[in-house]
Amino acid sequence: MVLPSFEQRQMTMATKKTNTSTKGTSPQGEAHTNPPITTSGSVAGVGSVHSLDDTTLIVQPPESNEPVSAAGQSDVGRVRELNEDNWHLGALNDDLMLYAVADGMGGHDRGEVASKLAVQTLFEAAREGLEDLSDTEVTTLRSLLRKCVQTANERVVITGIEEESNMGTTLCAALMHEESDAIIANVGDSRVYLLREGKLIQVSDDHSLVAYLVRLGELSAEEARNHPSGNILVRSIGSVPHVEVDLFHLPVQQGDRLMLCSDGLWGEITDEELEAIMLDHDDPRAACRALVNVANQNGGRDNTTLIVVNV
Ligand code: MG
Repeated sequence: MVLPSFEQRQMTMATKKTNTSTKGTSPQGEAHTNPPITTSGSVAGVGSVHSLDDTTLIVQPPESNEPVSAAGQSDVGRVRELNEDNWHLGALNDDLMLYAVADGMGGHDRGEVASKLAVQTLFEAAREGLEDLSDTEVTTLRSLLRKCVQTANERVVITGIEEESNMGTTLCAALMHEESDAIIANVGDSRVYLLREGKLIQVSDDHSLVAYLVRLGELSAEEARNHPSGNILVRSIGSVPHVEVDLFHLPVQQGDRLMLCSDGLWGEITDEELEAIMLDHDDPRAACRALVNVANQNGGRDNTTLIVVNV
């Protein structure tokens, strides 16, 4: 008997909703002229803490002209009825900021539950973990972030078992220390990008079937973009009790910008367009609004969620 590999077992449990090819229409087939924004928020600097609930997140009104260092936004898009993405940003203490985006999957509203649970648990675990932190060396912060993502995974796994649901979610996070080091964690196909000196670089690797095929040279990046199997994840939060977490250390410098986003953004907008729109909008709130608008103009086939951080 051949047992399925670790990743094959995860793959069978983590199939996201397939995007429809209906471009630019609502479920009723009517074009939105002004897509609804479900949540948005921004933070003026370290020390301002956001709290996200199901409705609207506002610490500082997004319309305010006061400069902010980070902002996030989530939009249901033009096709889906539910927004199963979630996001949160907040200060853990005077030196540490945490940013997270999750894209849930599962029947009914379970994806929404999974993504919210993952983000909430990540923040709770980070705040608890800080109490035992011996130092803020990069290796210590990496261990903390890995442990927090694994705690979020265990919580989603247990909830899925309790609710007899195959709920799951992606989760990407950035832990920023004193605006000099960013520790990036990723599970799934939400992405973390770095914009440095005018160039946008994808920091995280997608844990999707098509991304693996691209890395093997079996598919081109362009073929992968709208591939029929693009919804299959080979690694996700909520699939197996112990999840492997990708971690990256990114020494950051003033002028760098980070962007965390769900596939509703990068699936609708090429990296070249993402770069151009980011460069056109220095203010994180303006960048979020512009990117969500373009994702919807391009079809809005999925929920779109992003956080933009200016270092
Ligand atoms: Mg998505």
